[in-house]
Amino acid sequence: MGSFANFHKRSIEDRDSFWAEQAKTVDWEIQPQQICDYSNPPFAKWFVGGTTNLCHNAVDRHLKDRGDQAALIFVSTETEQEKTYTYKELHAEVQRMAAILKDFGVVKGDRVLIYLPMIAEASFAMLACARIGAIHSVVFGGFASHSLATRIEDASPKVIISADAGSRGGKVVAYKPLLDEAISLSSHKPKAVLMVDRHLSEFAKVAGRDFDYAQAREKHFNTQVPCEWVESTHPSYTLYTSGTTGKPKGVQRDTGGYAVALASSIPNIFQGKPGETFFCTSDIGWVVGHSYIIYGPLIGGMATILYEGLPIRPDGGIWWSLVEKYKVSVMFSAPTAIRVLKKQDPALLTKYNLSSLKALFLAGEPLDEPTAKWISEGLGGTPIIDNYWQTETGWPILTICNGVEKAPSKFGSPGKAVYGYDVKLVDDQTGEELAGANQKGVLTIEGPLPPGNLQTVWGDDARFVNTYWKTVPNRMLYSTFDWAVRDEDGYFFILGRTDDVINVAGHRLGTREIEESISSHPNIAEVAVVGVADQLKGQVAMAFAIAKDASALGDAAARLKLEGEVMKVVDNQLGAVARPSRVLFVSALPKTRSGKLLRRAIQAICEKRDPGDLTTMDDPLALKQIQDVLG
Ligand code: AMP
Repeated sequence: MGSFANFHKRSIEDRDSFWAEQAKTVDWEIQPQQICDYSNPPFAKWFVGGTTNLCHNAVDRHLKDRGDQAALIFVSTETEQEKTYTYKELHAEVQRMAAILKDFGVVKGDRVLIYLPMIAEASFAMLACARIGAIHSVVFGGFASHSLATRIEDASPKVIISADAGSRGGKVVAYKPLLDEAISLSSHKPKAVLMVDRHLSEFAKVAGRDFDYAQAREKHFNTQVPCEWVESTHPSYTLYTSGTTGKPKGVQRDTGGYAVALASSIPNIFQGKPGETFFCTSDIGWVVGHSYIIYGPLIGGMATILYEGLPIRPDGGIWWSLVEKYKVSVMFSAPTAIRVLKKQDPALLTKYNLSSLKALFLAGEPLDEPTAKWISEGLGGTPIIDNYWQTETGWPILTICNGVEKAPSKFGSPGKAVYGYDVKLVDDQTGEELAGANQKGVLTIEGPLPPGNLQTVWGDDARFVNTYWKTVPNRMLYSTFDWAVRDEDGYFFILGRTDDVINVAGHRLGTREIEESISSHPNIAEVAVVGVADQLKGQVAMAFAIAKDASALGDAAARLKLEGEVMKVVDNQLGAVARPSRVLFVSALPKTRSGKLLRRAIQAICEKRDPGDLTTMDDPLALKQIQDVLG
């Protein structure tokens, strides 16, 4: 058996001793007394009895050996800023932010919501929360007021940290009006709003509630705030993600398990070493940003690049210029970004010295073969490593662990089950395991979920159990809601979601959420949203709607007007990421006789595929209409 196969086998069969060994890569104030408590499945408690701190592991513990080494490299091609913070400087900034939070009365267990663009202060804010045991909830800056309001409502933060504006492609995107509206929509009101003023956009302050970060920072320039040791199982953060129902779920992460999982992933999966530079192009609003812009690289003693801007501005070589300048050894991006670069001059890929780069990791959505080949060849044979995971898991489920044992990649496959993950493919009807090769099943994980995975859904244990652990018949298994097959060599191929979740440019969106938003337009009676294959973004959302007053749809211009209005509603409520590419109008939607929307049939028609078995369909003309409006 190869060394990876052994490594994986030990992680499952000899779980506690395997993870006890991995736990030595992080600092503990009190050593764990028990490695895994799975006495109350599916709730797993990792490193029970141990106390630790994420910020200590990411920052303080490196001060002795690498205090003057780069920790955070902030680059904005939007505001032309570039600044490197050493570990010492990062330590000072985080303490200033922590002191400000303490002034607002934030204590261990309080929630702090972070609604910030990709600026250095976002990392200070996250680390400052971890430092004092507060639970952060970062909301992606591209989300608008309604999305933000549901998260404020659910997380009930004592403090919100935000900024006047972000910037995208040189266009200022004001955050403050969206935040003000979100707070007014939410029944929960934060005690304080800390505003990072980038002087990009004027904004109104609410007296007694809104405070200026620069002023507060000045006051605490030299304040020391020690790390608060917390139990390993203490929640470090919540991060909201979409599912089948309209209401996003707060994925709750622990502290000790997450620290150990990330610490072990840096050498074993990403082949990163202390002193090297990690460049993850995601956003801090997503799980990849949490794990591999902020916590993972820093826990691993690496420098991390936090980049605000587009991959093609000032030109399509910007990312590679950063790889050369900062000698990036590990890069992490998403297939959509590579497909965007594919449209640029290929000479930009060879313009810079990329000899420091060991591998490019891609995740978040299926990696198509032409894109993988194009980037691999363009980068002169740099390994391209697909990795498959979810907000819930916090780190990869499937990939090639080249840090454990070098293994070939296969196009179209993210690789094999990562150590710690007891992955099972099962029949969705019977729950039976599909152990043979090349059988399509639901990708599930046998409990306990490994360290770093979600503990529960914030404030809703029942939802955690019912959503993830009760969907496979006759078995208690964690469902990823992805279809997959495994080949003879143990390589998995992901075939798409089993639920109504779509993936637009690596962003996970619930079709129900978009439908609810569209339905709030006064002239929409009913709507169906489906994900449709797209060359650039992987998938896009398409909406088919029934108007309440059909006379408003007299001609093409009227339909376009209503389509524009509906898109605006989605932009304002959820954000432009959720905007459907088209909203087309019909007089009926295809449903089963029992009234269930036939989303899959609609999707098939949009993708010019056979819609399959339609015997349960109520009104065949409804599907014909979909075909007709598509033209
Ligand atoms: P998120 O929680 O937003 O990261 O979305 C997770 C979902 O994205 C997974 O359940 C998959 O459907 C999809 N996904 C993530 N990574 C990959 C990958 N490497 N290949 C195929 N699908 C992926």
